[in-house]
Amino acid sequence: MDLGDLETVVANSAYVSARGSIDGATAASLRDKKMRARLKLPHIRDCEHMKTSVDTAFDSMCVNQPIGKRLFLQFLESEATHTNAGELWKDIEDYTVCQEADRVQKAQKMVNKYYKSASKMFCSFLEEKAVARVVEDFKNARGDLFKESEQQMIKHLEKMALAGFKDSMYFLRYVQFKWLESQPFDEDWFNEFRVLGKGGFGEVFACQAKATGKMYANKKLEKKRLKKRGGYQGAIVEKRILAKVHSRFIVSLAYAFQTKSELCLVMTIMNGGDLRFHMYDMDEKNPGFTETRACFYTAQIICGVEHLHQHRIIYRDLKPENVLLDDAGHVRLSDMGLAVELPPGKDKTSGYAGTPGFMAPELLQKKEYDYTVDYFTLGVTLYEMIAAKGPFRVRGEKVENTEVARRILNDPVSYTPVFSKDCKDICEGLMHKDPEKRLGFKNNDCEELKKQPFFKDINWGCLEGGMLPPPFVPDPKAVYAKDIDGVGAFSSIKGVALDKEDTDFYNDFSSGNVPIPWQEEMIETGVFGEMNIWGEKGKLPNDLDA
Ligand code: ADP
Ligand code: MG
Ligand code: MG
Repeated sequence: MDLGDLETVVANSAYVSARGSIDGATAASLRDKKMRARLKLPHIRDCEHMKTSVDTAFDSMCVNQPIGKRLFLQFLESEATHTNAGELWKDIEDYTVCQEADRVQKAQKMVNKYYKSASKMFCSFLEEKAVARVVEDFKNARGDLFKESEQQMIKHLEKMALAGFKDSMYFLRYVQFKWLESQPFDEDWFNEFRVLGKGGFGEVFACQAKATGKMYANKKLEKKRLKKRGGYQGAIVEKRILAKVHSRFIVSLAYAFQTKSELCLVMTIMNGGDLRFHMYDMDEKNPGFTETRACFYTAQIICGVEHLHQHRIIYRDLKPENVLLDDAGHVRLSDMGLAVELPPGKDKTSGYAGTPGFMAPELLQKKEYDYTVDYFTLGVTLYEMIAAKGPFRVRGEKVENTEVARRILNDPVSYTPVFSKDCKDICEGLMHKDPEKRLGFKNNDCEELKKQPFFKDINWGCLEGGMLPPPFVPDPKAVYAKDIDGVGAFSSIKGVALDKEDTDFYNDFSSGNVPIPWQEEMIETGVFGEMNIWGEKGKLPNDLDA
């Protein structure tokens, strides 16, 4: 073993053991006690001024923010008039992610509990029509059975419970957490582990939030390299998009800060490696995936892409390399550096962006385009998962980009017998050269695509709730990244001076933590529970008086 190998072994073992610490009882013991002590709720006197400035919009505070929602649910539980709505809410969430086989039984219980006027938990705020539909329909085990009820419940709570919540001690607790959330977070809060990969402007490292023990990936962008290569625009777009989207199918941004020489994006860590690695490097003699496995990943990718499109974002760089696996084997989209957001009122964009062999005909022809380009790249990606080669380029083939583009524009795709009929059909639908005829995003969702026969075995409700077991689970002891030497070093950047304009840009970029992922970290690691202590029933929380 040479020194390089030894370095990798040592770095891997530190990283694997820190990774193990996020689950189970070891989490608390591996935290940095000094940093954990800095996560402390302020006295109410010290944050009272924020009562009028924190985000109190109902959807944001009580539905979307995990800590806000928890506290709101605790409030509902404490108020006799709202307990039924609170419990219905939790039951609807359970129903949405439960196994299909358990749905009817669960729905039956809910019907008896909330939908019968004789029941003491009867939800009289639900409209008669919605009640009747659930009662008539629950035996069909539809995933969206309670959708209408949920909408009515949320509307009802906004009207009837929001004001009470804002007068309650639960709201004061929310303000305390918002104060803590607004404190500055920077590199001091993280420990760094081994490098995971190399990007265009810097390396990506595994890291751990010292105070909670949660693992993240830190994508570093070197300031001087960014400036020299004109990377500011891409960096800010990537940051803005990652901070804006919250989906279990897209990596989320939890923190953005700067060090002396780098900008840092701290995101969901994806320990399982990328799809390209799994297709070609795991079993070299047998590249590619079975159709079942490819179908599962494609379904998750569709959920990610659908979420982006619902937020008016065109991804433009979908390919196996940018789809990463987590510990459980679920996948998320990463690398939003080429993405573009359509501004309000504008429905098309233009510009040459993407990876050769994946770019859609309309983009290559320099026409204006929209979300359609991402379904073309999806077709290319699915094809490659099955065929273990691209539809327009053989792996390792030395071919000019212009020739690849010519093939995309003119040549039909050929399918070997490993493609089932359903799989071939969906690939053809996705790689249709005419964007108008291509499968994709219609009426603000991907329903048409999800209904294709290729997905007949996918329970979309389960999948969307993260409850469908993945076809492959990464080995928790393995490191799905190149050896440290193999990652490759950067050359040093010379002759770049940074001025006030640059500093302003860096300060703008370094906005600190992102509320939803930060709150998730507090909850997942148990820190929220440790801090959310109350006084005797009916009294103010113990840290609010005195
Ligand atoms: P660039 O935009 O510069 O190409 P990427 O975002 O693709 O950078 O990151 C570079 C590499 O770092 C990826 O190919 C992957 O190996 C690794 N990487 C990126 N993000 C993560 C993550 N969230 N978790 C684990 N590894 C990651
Ligand atoms: Mg990349
Ligand atoms: Mg990028």
